[in-house]
Amino acid sequence: MRLSFLVRQCIVQYGRLGMSNSVQQIVIVGGGTAGWLAACLLAAKLPGHAVTLVEAPDIPTIGVGEGTWPTMRETLAMIGIPEAEFLRECDGAFKQGSRFDGWADGSPADSYLHPFTAPPPAEMRELAAAWQAAGQPGPFAAAITPQHGVCAHSLAPRQRAMPDYAGALNYGYHLDAGKFAALLMRHATTRLGVTRIAAEVTGVVAADNGDIAALDLRGGPRLTGDLFLDCSGQAAILISGHCGTDWVSRADISFNDRALAVQVPVLPGSPVASQTVGTAHEAGWLWDIGLPARRGIGCVYASRFLSDDRAEEILRAYVVAHVPGTDPASLTPRKLAFATGHRDRFWVGNCLAVGLSAGFIEPLEASAIVLIELSLKALVENFPQSRASMAIHAARFNELFRYRWDRIVEFLKLHYVLSTRSEPYWQAQRAPETIPPRLAECLALWREHVPSAWDFPRVDEMFPAASQHYVLYGMGFPVPLATAPPSPAAAARLGEVAAKARALTAALPANRDYFTALAAPLAAQGAS
Ligand SMILES: Cc1cc2nc3c(=O)[nH]c(=O)nc-3n(C[C@H](O)[C@H](O)[C@H](O)COP(=O)(O)OP(=O)(O)OC[C@H]3O[C@@H](n4cnc5c(N)ncnc54)[C@H](O)[C@@H]3O)c2cc1C
Repeated sequence: MRLSFLVRQCIVQYGRLGMSNSVQQIVIVGGGTAGWLAACLLAAKLPGHAVTLVEAPDIPTIGVGEGTWPTMRETLAMIGIPEAEFLRECDGAFKQGSRFDGWADGSPADSYLHPFTAPPPAEMRELAAAWQAAGQPGPFAAAITPQHGVCAHSLAPRQRAMPDYAGALNYGYHLDAGKFAALLMRHATTRLGVTRIAAEVTGVVAADNGDIAALDLRGGPRLTGDLFLDCSGQAAILISGHCGTDWVSRADISFNDRALAVQVPVLPGSPVASQTVGTAHEAGWLWDIGLPARRGIGCVYASRFLSDDRAEEILRAYVVAHVPGTDPASLTPRKLAFATGHRDRFWVGNCLAVGLSAGFIEPLEASAIVLIELSLKALVENFPQSRASMAIHAARFNELFRYRWDRIVEFLKLHYVLSTRSEPYWQAQRAPETIPPRLAECLALWREHVPSAWDFPRVDEMFPAASQHYVLYGMGFPVPLATAPPSPAAAARLGEVAAKARALTAALPANRDYFTALAAPLAAQGAS
């Protein structure tokens, strides 16, 4: 009903204004991860369209964002970057999930893994019952997926001889954000025909209908376009500045609003971790991302509960304890402040916000870059053939991404509400008025039922039931009592997981060996 109204409006408007109806010229504002991923994907998937990216040389990118989802493999394959080139150029490593230390109760043994590999194809109700009937021997994730053992030994998810982007287990990447944006820029401009303009956008020229007709550039000619992507980061110059969309704050649910980040060199030959490690502290958590040459470590915290000085103390203490040989005086943490929330609409008129301009929530499950990829996938696969249909696409896009944001906010909150930690910050995280009603409802249901697709009905859920299982049972949430003994088939499945874990642990190379071998041909070329 609403959509057909929008179509009528568009047709009436366009008839009246006599504007161009085709969508040929795509203009992207911003040259961070969002902007360059957009440029690569649009140029690769929409031949015949002109893609121009404008970035302000004096406005830095955010420069963090070093953990991706497995979706990045499909994205890189789609834009035509070979995997070895990507890993070498970005100082990349494999990410097979996230490990959460100290989240449940803060005791030394408190640790669980949220791996990327899905459980075996069987009813989780049955598998959980079999795990329970066996007396819960070891962590839930270790019983359910061989990835747990592979991560524990810092092994790669694939062998080098495998085809690009194929793996024995599901995986994404850890990477150097600055090098990644630089690689994407080179690829877009030299191989995909994207035009790059280094200039600051200083103003917007509006069409009569409120669309963006053109951008004013400092020291350059006006830049016209049919569709404008706002990838300008926190500045959000188009979606907020021009379109005036409202900001939907989620800070009442998700408290963290600051981060301190450092990069720490590692000793040659030291193991490279297979997962992001998130370690809880008194008022937030620390991330630890291992690359072959360095680790990216950061302290995420809520300024309402922790001073910047105390956060820095926590960060330094972590680095000294976890990275052998680090001189704490050599660390100069970079401070980042962020608001938690998102736009009420992401696509307005002929302007679509992608990346930080669309919204941000703390990087607990690295949900930002994957949202960029999902936004671009939705755009490319439903690209408006005419300006007249854009309002329909925009309405659908906005509905889908509001749904996604709600689920992300709930899933991140799940990590906090199950904790029994006693510090004021953790107590506040469990206050009922901070828990989204749908999550509270699910938690009540999950005392009786194992989460299932009934709770997450979309085909493309970002955090399907399997993700909820890993967090719930990793945190010690009780498995609902089985009404019948588990089937022999479920116990057999768990046996198969254990056997596969042993086989993969014996067969897969250590991450360090993988990256040393990957760099070897280049080192040999350099020496010759
Ligand atoms: C502490 C922290 C940790 C994070 N960790 C992760 C993670 O592990 N995984 C993950 O997926 N995400 C993570 N993120 C999010 C991730 O960093 C971003 O989603 C990603 O880098 C995309 O940023 P962006 O391209 O939208 O913005 P930016 O990188 O800020 O780029 C903005 C661009 O816009 C340009 N610009 C701005 N104003 C103008 C103007 N007037 N004219 C022209 N150009 C302009 C700038 O020059 C720049 O090129 C993290 C974020 C934070 C804050």
